[in-house]
Amino acid sequence: MSLTSTRETSHAGVASEAAARLMHRCKLLARCTEKPGEILRTFLSPAVDDVHRAIRPWMEAAGMSVAVDRVGNLRGLYPAEGGENTPRLLIGSHLDTVPNAGAYDGVLGVLMGLALVEASGERRYPFAIEVLGFSDEEGTRFGAPFLGSRAVVGELEGGLLECVDAGGVSVAQALRSYAAQRPETVAATLSDKSAAYVEFHIEQGPVLESRNLALGIVEGLAGQSRCSVEFRGQAGHAGTNPMKLRKDALAGAAEWMMGVEAIARRFENGVATVGQIAAEPGGVNVIPGVVRCSLDVRHAEDGVRCAIVRAIFEEAHAVAARRGLQAEVAQYHEHPAVRLDAGLVGLTERAAGQSGYATIRMTSGAGHDAMVIAPRVPSAMVFLRSPGGISHHPDESVAEADVAAAVHMGLIFLDEFTTYARGKD
Ligand SMILES: [Zn+2]
Repeated sequence: MSLTSTRETSHAGVASEAAARLMHRCKLLARCTEKPGEILRTFLSPAVDDVHRAIRPWMEAAGMSVAVDRVGNLRGLYPAEGGENTPRLLIGSHLDTVPNAGAYDGVLGVLMGLALVEASGERRYPFAIEVLGFSDEEGTRFGAPFLGSRAVVGELEGGLLECVDAGGVSVAQALRSYAAQRPETVAATLSDKSAAYVEFHIEQGPVLESRNLALGIVEGLAGQSRCSVEFRGQAGHAGTNPMKLRKDALAGAAEWMMGVEAIARRFENGVATVGQIAAEPGGVNVIPGVVRCSLDVRHAEDGVRCAIVRAIFEEAHAVAARRGLQAEVAQYHEHPAVRLDAGLVGLTERAAGQSGYATIRMTSGAGHDAMVIAPRVPSAMVFLRSPGGISHHPDESVAEADVAAAVHMGLIFLDEFTTYARGKD
Protein backbone atom coordinates (compact mmCIF):
# COMPACT_ATOMS: atom_id res chain seq x y z
CA MET A 1 0.00 0.00 0.00
CA SER A 2 1.40 3.41 -0.92
CA LEU A 3 1.87 6.16 1.63
CA THR A 4 -0.95 8.20 0.09
CA SER A 5 -3.48 5.38 0.08
CA THR A 6 -2.60 4.50 3.70
CA ARG A 7 -3.24 8.14 4.56
CA GLU A 8 -6.55 8.11 2.68
CA THR A 9 -7.75 4.95 4.43
CA SER A 10 -7.04 6.40 7.86
CA HIS A 11 -8.57 9.81 6.93
CA ALA A 12 -11.73 8.08 5.72
CA GLY A 13 -12.14 6.16 8.99
CA VAL A 14 -11.56 9.25 11.12
CA ALA A 15 -13.92 11.26 8.90
CA SER A 16 -16.89 8.94 9.30
CA GLU A 17 -16.56 9.02 13.11
CA ALA A 18 -16.23 12.81 13.01
CA ALA A 19 -19.33 13.10 10.80
CA ALA A 20 -21.46 11.06 13.20
CA ARG A 21 -20.33 13.28 16.08
CA LEU A 22 -20.99 16.45 14.08
CA MET A 23 -24.54 15.38 13.16
CA HIS A 24 -25.27 14.63 16.82
CA ARG A 25 -23.92 18.03 17.86
CA CYS A 26 -26.04 19.88 15.29
CA LYS A 27 -29.11 18.25 16.83
CA LEU A 28 -27.96 19.20 20.35
CA LEU A 29 -27.35 22.82 19.33
CA ALA A 30 -30.78 22.97 17.66
CA ARG A 31 -32.20 22.94 21.21
CA CYS A 32 -30.60 26.34 21.88
CA THR A 33 -33.40 28.65 20.83
CA GLU A 34 -35.19 31.77 21.96
CA LYS A 35 -38.57 30.46 20.77
CA PRO A 36 -39.87 27.12 22.05
CA GLY A 37 -41.00 24.79 19.27
CA GLU A 38 -38.75 26.25 16.58
CA ILE A 39 -35.10 27.17 16.08
CA LEU A 40 -34.43 30.90 16.41
CA ARG A 41 -31.14 32.45 17.49
CA THR A 42 -30.54 36.13 16.95
CA PHE A 43 -27.55 38.41 17.42
CA LEU A 44 -26.31 38.61 21.05
CA SER A 45 -29.27 36.58 22.35
CA PRO A 46 -29.08 34.21 25.35
CA ALA A 47 -29.69 31.35 22.88
CA VAL A 48 -26.35 32.14 21.21
CA ASP A 49 -24.75 32.19 24.70
CA ASP A 50 -26.17 28.68 25.17
CA VAL A 51 -24.50 27.57 21.93
CA HIS A 52 -21.20 29.04 23.12
CA ARG A 53 -21.54 27.21 26.44
CA ALA A 54 -22.12 23.93 24.59
CA ILE A 55 -19.25 24.29 22.10
CA ARG A 56 -16.63 25.67 24.50
CA PRO A 57 -15.89 22.39 26.35
CA TRP A 58 -15.69 20.51 23.01
CA MET A 59 -13.12 23.00 21.77
CA GLU A 60 -11.15 22.92 25.01
CA ALA A 61 -11.07 19.13 24.98
CA ALA A 62 -9.58 19.36 21.47
CA GLY A 63 -6.68 21.48 22.76
CA MET A 64 -8.09 24.85 21.72
CA SER A 65 -8.16 28.05 23.75
CA VAL A 66 -11.60 29.64 23.59
CA ALA A 67 -12.76 33.24 23.78
CA VAL A 68 -15.81 35.29 22.86
CA ASP A 69 -15.16 38.66 21.30
CA ARG A 70 -16.95 41.97 21.91
CA VAL A 71 -19.50 41.41 19.12
CA GLY A 72 -20.34 37.91 20.34
CA ASN A 73 -18.22 35.86 17.92
CA LEU A 74 -17.00 32.55 19.36
CA ARG A 75 -13.29 32.01 18.69
CA GLY A 76 -11.37 28.82 19.28
CA LEU A 77 -7.63 28.76 18.63
CA TYR A 78 -5.62 25.59 17.99
CA PRO A 79 -1.98 26.57 18.29
CA ALA A 80 0.65 25.83 15.67
CA GLU A 81 3.59 23.56 16.31
CA GLY A 82 5.93 26.47 15.65
CA GLY A 83 4.75 28.87 18.38
CA GLU A 84 3.09 32.24 17.96
CA ASN A 85 4.73 33.71 14.90
CA THR A 86 3.06 31.37 12.43
CA PRO A 87 0.31 31.84 9.85
CA ARG A 88 -3.27 31.27 10.91
CA LEU A 89 -5.91 29.34 8.98
CA LEU A 90 -9.44 30.56 9.73
CA ILE A 91 -12.34 28.12 9.47
CA GLY A 92 -15.76 29.50 10.25
CA SER A 93 -19.39 30.23 9.61
CA HIS A 94 -22.28 31.63 11.67
CA LEU A 95 -24.21 30.53 14.77
CA ASP A 96 -27.30 32.76 14.39
CA THR A 97 -30.39 31.67 12.45
CA VAL A 98 -33.41 32.88 10.54
CA PRO A 99 -36.81 32.40 12.26
CA ASN A 100 -38.04 28.78 12.18
CA ALA A 101 -34.64 27.65 10.94
CA GLY A 102 -33.09 24.28 10.20
CA ALA A 103 -30.31 22.74 12.28
CA TYR A 104 -27.39 23.00 9.82
CA ASP A 105 -27.27 26.44 8.17
CA GLY A 106 -24.15 28.08 9.63
CA VAL A 107 -23.67 25.75 12.61
CA LEU A 108 -22.35 23.04 10.32
CA GLY A 109 -19.46 25.21 9.14
CA VAL A 110 -18.38 26.07 12.69
CA LEU A 111 -18.55 22.46 13.82
CA MET A 112 -16.60 21.44 10.69
CA GLY A 113 -13.69 23.56 11.92
CA LEU A 114 -13.84 21.87 15.30
CA ALA A 115 -14.21 18.42 13.68
CA LEU A 116 -11.06 18.99 11.60
CA VAL A 117 -9.07 19.96 14.70
CA GLU A 118 -10.38 16.92 16.58
CA ALA A 119 -9.76 14.60 13.63
CA SER A 120 -6.15 15.79 13.47
CA GLY A 121 -5.64 13.95 16.77
CA GLU A 122 -2.75 15.39 18.73
CA ARG A 123 -1.09 16.53 15.54
CA ARG A 124 -0.02 20.16 15.28
CA TYR A 125 0.45 21.94 11.97
CA PRO A 126 3.00 24.63 11.13
CA PHE A 127 0.02 27.03 11.15
CA ALA A 128 -2.54 27.81 13.84
CA ILE A 129 -6.22 27.04 13.20
CA GLU A 130 -8.79 29.53 14.42
CA VAL A 131 -12.40 28.36 14.38
CA LEU A 132 -14.85 31.26 14.17
CA GLY A 133 -18.55 31.11 15.07
CA PHE A 134 -19.93 34.42 13.80
CA SER A 135 -22.63 36.01 15.95
CA ASP A 136 -24.74 37.36 13.08
CA GLU A 137 -24.93 36.51 9.41
CA GLU A 138 -28.66 36.35 8.76
CA GLY A 139 -29.49 39.85 9.98
CA THR A 140 -32.63 38.56 11.70
CA ARG A 141 -32.50 40.94 14.67
CA PHE A 142 -31.43 44.22 13.05
CA GLY A 143 -32.32 43.66 9.39
CA ALA A 144 -28.63 44.17 8.52
CA PRO A 145 -26.68 40.98 7.81
CA PHE A 146 -23.05 39.93 8.52
CA LEU A 147 -22.65 41.96 11.74
CA GLY A 148 -20.23 39.37 13.20
CA SER A 149 -17.93 39.08 10.20
CA ARG A 150 -18.16 42.79 9.34
CA ALA A 151 -16.93 43.59 12.85
CA VAL A 152 -13.77 41.48 12.55
CA VAL A 153 -12.80 43.17 9.25
CA GLY A 154 -13.46 46.63 10.73
CA GLU A 155 -16.64 47.35 8.79
CA LEU A 156 -19.14 47.49 11.65
CA GLU A 157 -19.46 51.26 11.75
CA GLY A 158 -21.48 54.29 10.68
CA GLY A 159 -25.12 53.72 9.79
CA LEU A 160 -24.90 50.02 10.62
CA LEU A 161 -24.48 50.86 14.31
CA GLU A 162 -27.69 52.89 14.20
CA CYS A 163 -29.94 50.06 12.92
CA VAL A 164 -32.56 49.26 15.54
CA ASP A 165 -34.30 46.01 16.49
CA ALA A 166 -38.03 45.51 17.08
CA GLY A 167 -37.60 46.84 20.64
CA GLY A 168 -35.98 50.08 19.46
CA VAL A 169 -32.49 49.06 20.70
CA SER A 170 -29.67 50.09 18.35
CA VAL A 171 -26.73 47.88 17.35
CA ALA A 172 -24.41 50.29 19.23
CA GLN A 173 -26.51 50.08 22.41
CA ALA A 174 -26.79 46.29 22.19
CA LEU A 175 -23.02 45.96 21.79
CA ARG A 176 -22.30 48.29 24.70
CA SER A 177 -24.46 46.36 27.14
CA TYR A 178 -23.19 43.01 25.80
CA ALA A 179 -19.55 43.97 26.43
CA ALA A 180 -20.35 45.64 29.76
CA GLN A 181 -21.86 42.40 31.07
CA ARG A 182 -18.89 40.40 29.79
CA PRO A 183 -15.59 41.99 30.81
CA GLU A 184 -13.78 38.84 29.67
CA THR A 185 -14.60 39.42 25.98
CA VAL A 186 -11.68 40.03 23.62
CA ALA A 187 -11.22 42.50 20.74
CA ALA A 188 -13.29 41.72 17.63
CA THR A 189 -10.39 41.79 15.17
CA LEU A 190 -8.57 39.35 12.95
CA SER A 191 -4.96 38.44 13.62
CA ASP A 192 -2.62 39.95 11.02
CA LYS A 193 -1.28 36.40 10.68
CA SER A 194 -4.60 35.32 9.10
CA ALA A 195 -3.45 33.58 5.91
CA ALA A 196 -6.69 32.05 4.66
CA TYR A 197 -10.39 31.63 5.45
CA VAL A 198 -12.34 28.50 4.61
CA GLU A 199 -16.10 28.16 5.06
CA PHE A 200 -18.07 24.92 4.79
CA HIS A 201 -21.80 25.50 4.30
CA ILE A 202 -24.83 23.57 3.13
CA GLU A 203 -25.63 24.53 -0.46
CA GLN A 204 -29.21 25.65 0.33
CA GLY A 205 -30.15 24.90 -3.27
CA PRO A 206 -30.74 21.87 -5.52
CA VAL A 207 -27.70 21.93 -7.85
CA LEU A 208 -25.42 19.38 -6.15
CA GLU A 209 -28.31 16.97 -5.61
CA SER A 210 -29.32 17.28 -9.26
CA ARG A 211 -25.73 16.40 -10.23
CA ASN A 212 -25.50 13.58 -7.68
CA LEU A 213 -22.50 15.18 -5.96
CA ALA A 214 -21.70 15.45 -2.24
CA LEU A 215 -19.48 18.52 -2.46
CA GLY A 216 -19.24 21.68 -4.54
CA ILE A 217 -16.32 24.10 -4.81
CA VAL A 218 -17.49 27.71 -4.60
CA GLU A 219 -15.39 30.03 -6.73
CA GLY A 220 -17.38 33.19 -6.23
CA LEU A 221 -20.46 34.75 -4.70
CA ALA A 222 -22.97 36.43 -6.96
CA GLY A 223 -23.42 40.17 -6.98
CA GLN A 224 -26.90 41.41 -6.33
CA SER A 225 -29.18 44.23 -7.50
CA ARG A 226 -32.37 45.16 -5.67
CA CYS A 227 -34.77 47.27 -7.72
CA SER A 228 -38.29 48.64 -7.72
CA VAL A 229 -40.47 48.81 -10.81
CA GLU A 230 -43.78 50.68 -10.87
CA PHE A 231 -46.45 50.70 -13.58
CA ARG A 232 -49.05 53.46 -13.70
CA GLY A 233 -52.21 53.18 -15.76
CA GLN A 234 -55.79 54.22 -15.14
CA ALA A 235 -57.96 52.73 -12.42
CA GLY A 236 -61.56 52.30 -13.49
CA HIS A 237 -64.80 50.31 -13.29
CA ALA A 238 -64.36 46.62 -14.15
CA GLY A 239 -67.77 46.52 -15.87
CA THR A 240 -67.95 49.68 -17.94
CA ASN A 241 -64.49 49.87 -19.54
CA PRO A 242 -64.16 47.84 -22.77
CA MET A 243 -60.90 45.88 -22.99
CA LYS A 244 -59.44 47.93 -25.82
CA LEU A 245 -59.92 51.21 -23.91
CA ARG A 246 -58.20 50.10 -20.70
CA LYS A 247 -54.85 51.06 -19.18
CA ASP A 248 -54.51 48.11 -16.80
CA ALA A 249 -51.29 48.47 -14.80
CA LEU A 250 -51.44 44.89 -13.48
CA ALA A 251 -51.89 43.31 -16.92
CA GLY A 252 -48.84 45.37 -17.99
CA ALA A 253 -46.86 44.19 -14.97
CA ALA A 254 -47.83 40.58 -15.76
CA GLU A 255 -46.58 40.90 -19.35
CA TRP A 256 -43.37 42.49 -18.07
CA MET A 257 -42.86 39.64 -15.58
CA MET A 258 -42.97 37.08 -18.36
CA GLY A 259 -40.28 39.21 -20.00
CA VAL A 260 -38.19 39.19 -16.79
CA GLU A 261 -38.16 35.41 -16.86
CA ALA A 262 -37.26 35.27 -20.56
CA ILE A 263 -34.47 37.87 -20.21
CA ALA A 264 -32.84 36.13 -17.22
CA ARG A 265 -32.87 32.85 -19.16
CA ARG A 266 -30.98 34.47 -22.02
CA PHE A 267 -27.95 35.09 -19.76
CA GLU A 268 -26.16 31.95 -18.61
CA ASN A 269 -26.51 31.50 -14.81
CA GLY A 270 -28.44 34.77 -14.51
CA VAL A 271 -31.32 34.79 -12.00
CA ALA A 272 -34.05 37.41 -11.70
CA THR A 273 -36.98 37.29 -9.30
CA VAL A 274 -40.09 39.40 -8.81
CA GLY A 275 -40.94 38.49 -5.23
CA GLN A 276 -43.38 41.21 -4.24
CA ILE A 277 -46.22 42.77 -6.11
CA ALA A 278 -48.83 45.23 -4.87
CA ALA A 279 -51.78 46.44 -6.95
CA GLU A 280 -53.86 49.52 -6.21
CA PRO A 281 -56.60 50.18 -5.48
CA GLY A 282 -56.99 46.42 -4.99
CA GLY A 283 -60.73 45.98 -5.50
CA VAL A 284 -62.20 42.85 -7.15
CA ASN A 285 -64.26 45.07 -9.45
CA VAL A 286 -61.65 47.77 -10.12
CA ILE A 287 -59.08 47.88 -12.92
CA PRO A 288 -55.66 48.21 -11.23
CA GLY A 289 -54.28 51.72 -11.71
CA VAL A 290 -50.87 51.37 -10.01
CA VAL A 291 -48.67 48.30 -9.53
CA ARG A 292 -45.41 48.20 -7.60
CA CYS A 293 -43.03 45.26 -8.07
CA SER A 294 -39.76 44.27 -6.45
CA LEU A 295 -36.93 42.92 -8.57
CA ASP A 296 -33.89 40.90 -7.40
CA VAL A 297 -31.16 40.17 -9.97
CA ARG A 298 -27.98 38.15 -9.30
CA HIS A 299 -24.97 37.06 -11.32
CA ALA A 300 -21.32 36.15 -10.70
CA GLU A 301 -20.16 38.84 -13.16
CA ASP A 302 -21.12 42.40 -12.26
CA GLY A 303 -21.14 43.44 -15.93
CA VAL A 304 -23.60 40.68 -16.82
CA ARG A 305 -25.80 41.53 -13.84
CA CYS A 306 -25.94 45.17 -14.91
CA ALA A 307 -26.80 44.08 -18.48
CA ILE A 308 -29.68 41.93 -17.17
CA VAL A 309 -31.00 44.83 -15.08
CA ARG A 310 -30.77 47.18 -18.09
CA ALA A 311 -32.62 44.73 -20.34
CA ILE A 312 -35.34 44.24 -17.74
CA PHE A 313 -35.74 48.00 -17.28
CA GLU A 314 -35.98 48.47 -21.09
CA GLU A 315 -38.62 45.75 -21.19
CA ALA A 316 -40.65 47.66 -18.57
CA HIS A 317 -40.56 50.81 -20.71
CA ALA A 318 -41.40 48.84 -23.90
CA VAL A 319 -44.39 47.12 -22.29
CA ALA A 320 -45.58 50.42 -20.83
CA ALA A 321 -45.29 52.17 -24.22
CA ARG A 322 -47.32 49.46 -25.97
CA ARG A 323 -50.08 49.61 -23.37
CA GLY A 324 -50.26 53.35 -22.77
CA LEU A 325 -48.84 53.00 -19.24
CA GLN A 326 -46.02 54.79 -17.49
CA ALA A 327 -43.13 52.81 -16.02
CA GLU A 328 -40.75 53.98 -13.32
CA VAL A 329 -37.68 51.87 -12.57
CA ALA A 330 -34.96 52.25 -9.93
CA GLN A 331 -32.10 50.23 -8.47
CA TYR A 332 -31.92 51.07 -4.77
CA HIS A 333 -29.34 48.57 -3.53
CA GLU A 334 -26.35 46.84 -5.09
CA HIS A 335 -23.71 44.44 -3.79
CA PRO A 336 -20.84 43.58 -6.13
CA ALA A 337 -19.85 39.99 -6.84
CA VAL A 338 -16.99 38.52 -4.83
CA ARG A 339 -14.35 36.26 -6.38
CA LEU A 340 -12.78 33.80 -4.00
CA ASP A 341 -9.01 33.27 -4.01
CA ALA A 342 -8.00 31.26 -7.09
CA GLY A 343 -5.09 29.49 -5.36
CA LEU A 344 -7.14 28.50 -2.34
CA VAL A 345 -10.14 27.46 -4.45
CA GLY A 346 -7.79 25.23 -6.48
CA LEU A 347 -6.44 23.76 -3.24
CA THR A 348 -9.93 22.82 -1.98
CA GLU A 349 -10.72 21.32 -5.38
CA ARG A 350 -7.56 19.18 -5.39
CA ALA A 351 -8.20 18.08 -1.78
CA ALA A 352 -11.70 16.93 -2.75
CA GLY A 353 -10.28 15.09 -5.76
CA GLN A 354 -7.64 13.35 -3.64
CA SER A 355 -10.29 12.25 -1.17
CA GLY A 356 -12.07 10.55 -4.07
CA TYR A 357 -14.97 12.97 -4.50
CA ALA A 358 -15.91 14.51 -7.83
CA THR A 359 -16.91 18.17 -7.54
CA ILE A 360 -18.14 21.02 -9.68
CA ARG A 361 -17.28 24.67 -9.42
CA MET A 362 -20.19 26.83 -8.35
CA THR A 363 -21.22 30.41 -7.76
CA SER A 364 -23.09 31.00 -4.54
CA GLY A 365 -26.33 32.81 -5.24
CA ALA A 366 -26.72 33.42 -1.51
CA GLY A 367 -24.56 35.69 0.62
CA HIS A 368 -22.19 34.13 3.18
CA ASP A 369 -19.60 35.35 5.68
CA ALA A 370 -16.92 34.46 3.09
CA MET A 371 -18.24 37.39 1.06
CA VAL A 372 -17.20 39.78 3.83
CA ILE A 373 -13.90 38.10 4.70
CA ALA A 374 -12.70 37.49 1.11
CA PRO A 375 -11.64 41.09 0.33
CA ARG A 376 -9.30 40.99 3.40
CA VAL A 377 -8.14 37.39 3.67
CA PRO A 378 -7.79 34.88 0.78
CA SER A 379 -10.95 32.78 1.05
CA ALA A 380 -12.51 29.56 -0.22
CA MET A 381 -15.89 27.91 0.33
CA VAL A 382 -17.12 24.34 0.10
CA PHE A 383 -20.79 23.48 -0.32
CA LEU A 384 -22.36 20.29 1.00
CA ARG A 385 -25.35 18.86 -0.84
CA SER A 386 -28.74 20.02 0.52
CA PRO A 387 -31.33 17.21 0.25
CA GLY A 388 -34.32 18.58 -1.67
CA GLY A 389 -32.49 21.92 -1.88
CA ILE A 390 -34.34 22.80 1.32
CA SER A 391 -32.96 25.44 3.69
CA HIS A 392 -34.18 28.22 6.01
CA HIS A 393 -36.81 25.65 6.97
CA PRO A 394 -37.11 23.05 9.76
CA ASP A 395 -36.85 20.28 7.12
CA GLU A 396 -33.34 21.43 6.19
CA SER A 397 -30.92 18.48 6.35
CA VAL A 398 -27.57 17.10 5.28
CA ALA A 399 -26.45 13.50 4.80
CA GLU A 400 -23.94 12.14 7.32
CA ALA A 401 -22.00 10.59 4.42
CA ASP A 402 -21.65 14.02 2.81
CA VAL A 403 -20.35 15.46 6.08
CA ALA A 404 -17.82 12.59 6.19
CA ALA A 405 -16.79 13.53 2.63
CA ALA A 406 -16.28 17.15 3.74
CA VAL A 407 -14.20 16.11 6.79
CA HIS A 408 -12.14 13.77 4.61
CA MET A 409 -11.38 16.46 2.05
CA GLY A 410 -10.80 18.94 4.89
CA LEU A 411 -8.10 16.73 6.42
CA ILE A 412 -6.31 16.50 3.08
CA PHE A 413 -6.72 20.26 2.73
CA LEU A 414 -4.91 20.71 6.07
CA ASP A 415 -2.07 18.44 4.87
CA GLU A 416 -1.75 20.39 1.64
CA PHE A 417 -2.17 23.80 3.27
CA THR A 418 1.17 23.29 5.01
CA THR A 419 2.98 23.44 1.67
CA TYR A 420 0.67 26.14 0.36
CA ALA A 421 1.30 28.42 3.37
CA ARG A 422 5.08 27.90 3.08
CA GLY A 423 4.96 28.79 -0.61
CA LYS A 424 3.21 32.05 0.30
CA ASP A 425 5.94 33.21 2.73
ZN1 LIG B 1 -25.85 30.42 6.41
